[in-house]
Amino acid sequence: MKKPITEISAPLVSWYQQHERSFPWREDPSPYRVWVSEIMLQQTRIEAALPYFERFMQTLPTVADLAAAPEDVLLKLWEGLGYYSRVRNLQKAAQMVMRDFGGELPDKYEQLLTLPGIGEYTAGAIASIAFGKRAAAVDGNVLRVMARLTDDATDVMQPQNRKRVTALVQSIVPEQHAGDFNQGIMELGETVCLPNAQPRCSECPLFDYCAVAGLERARDLPTRTKPKQRRVEHRTVFIVVIDDKVLLHRRPQKGLLGGMWELPNVESDHAEDALSQWGVEAVDTTLLPNGKHVFSHVEWHMEGRLVKAKRLTLQPEFQLVSKEELAGYALPTAFRTYSDILKEDVL
Ligand code: SF4
Repeated sequence: MKKPITEISAPLVSWYQQHERSFPWREDPSPYRVWVSEIMLQQTRIEAALPYFERFMQTLPTVADLAAAPEDVLLKLWEGLGYYSRVRNLQKAAQMVMRDFGGELPDKYEQLLTLPGIGEYTAGAIASIAFGKRAAAVDGNVLRVMARLTDDATDVMQPQNRKRVTALVQSIVPEQHAGDFNQGIMELGETVCLPNAQPRCSECPLFDYCAVAGLERARDLPTRTKPKQRRVEHRTVFIVVIDDKVLLHRRPQKGLLGGMWELPNVESDHAEDALSQWGVEAVDTTLLPNGKHVFSHVEWHMEGRLVKAKRLTLQPEFQLVSKEELAGYALPTAFRTYSDILKEDVL
């Protein structure tokens, strides 16, 4: 006979307190550090995020520093993490905190939810971890652990099912140690109740509470509908060199990679007319290797061209940049194949 799931908090919290891995945002869980770490970890593995987190905190140690940071500094700190809207929202939220909350991140779940980029999960994580409030924080790890604990095969991609699981977790989060409870389930999901693998049930503190403990069936949970297939775009990326400088283009503020500087590129069908429209004339063209980048809804399949060119009349959204100046620009990782070539002897 299994023990009731409503009683998991004590064994979970005690397990977490003995097994938690040490990370900088756990050693000093100030609201600001917890917040920045949670936003960074939304699409990035912990190991990959660590150096970014340290650099971010050294450069912008307070909410006020983040609110006042020039955009180029901000994007440079985020370069390589992708999904730049996250850091833009982080800054907008910091400005709101300075304006509306006296420079201190609010401690109430509902107030946190009003800040740009903070959804239910992040609000729950900050409220519980940084302020000790009784709030659920349900991410993919928690959905998996809960689906296994309760042998729930309903589709976790469906909002009504997530809502139900969130309500269940909310009813179990303890008054004391809410942050340790939330981090405990996530930690369990990352180190014991593993995704896409047979979980290590024999090491699990919740074995006696789990409906599928030790069963092969655990591996098949949770159930997810397959995401839609991504659209494929064929693009031609240009490294245009004029007088030892490279041509960069600023993307429109709205949409994919909004407002970022990039290597000029077009859909491959329009590659032949592109240069004259940008205000340059090719003198010599060399083909570059192909590249590929996967965004959440679209895949770019890229071919590259290195073009030595003459300047005609540049359009305002373009800029010529020297090799030294280039270091101050955060080119999106989508262009890595070509920005690596730029580091070679092209300029
Ligand atoms: Fe996951 Fe196994 Fe623990 Fe159940 S007993 S929560 S399946 S690790």
